[in-house]
Amino acid sequence: MPARILVVEDEPAIQALIAANLKRAGHEAIAALDAETARRQVDEVLPDLVLLDWMLPGMSGLEFARRLRAEPRTRHVPIIMLTARGEEGDKVQGLTTGADDYVTKPFSPKELLARIQAVLRRQRPQAAEDAVEVGGLKLDPVTHRVTADGKAVSLGPTEFRLLHFLMTHAERVHSRVQLLDQVWGDHVFVEERTVDVHIRRLRASLEATGHDALIQTVRGSGYRLSAEPAAE
Ligand code: CA
Repeated sequence: MPARILVVEDEPAIQALIAANLKRAGHEAIAALDAETARRQVDEVLPDLVLLDWMLPGMSGLEFARRLRAEPRTRHVPIIMLTARGEEGDKVQGLTTGADDYVTKPFSPKELLARIQAVLRRQRPQAAEDAVEVGGLKLDPVTHRVTADGKAVSLGPTEFRLLHFLMTHAERVHSRVQLLDQVWGDHVFVEERTVDVHIRRLRASLEATGHDALIQTVRGSGYRLSAEPAAE
């Protein structure tokens, strides 16, 4: 599943180089030349990751990172800081501000992509391209194939994304609101019962092999995917 990556970088040549490499790797790149523009873009749609230059005109990258970390809505968005500085003190400051990683310029596009992939795998497993398996149910985000005990399962696009999110965040309980944010997209105004409709469809598709039992309703809280039987 491609990741939506916000690139905040004021040097147009570096901005273009990063965007071209992200696109080549199958990601979606959104460009911002300063933190104020980035702020507006984040308000519109939450990115899967922010590549953030330290030295920006106006608000610095460090200050922008601080603000992202201070708000509940943006607190968990992974941040990779880009900087020309290589000093240990700055690196420590960047990481304590809440950056997930730190890349020093000049960097090779290959190194940057590897760092992005590592952070996504850790923080946004649904945006990484790893195949997942839970209790005999397998999902491959690259080929878009789902199998249950080796048998192909056919799913609609929403059910696929929903299953991918639940499988990459197994054992955790997700409220309907959280699922809407994560699967349908932030700021998408659909009713909470839409989640129930798609959960029902997903279970129906998994019924033949009994894998519908993996998707558990947690009364009063939401849904959970688990290989362990649900406690009633
Ligand atoms: Ca800069």
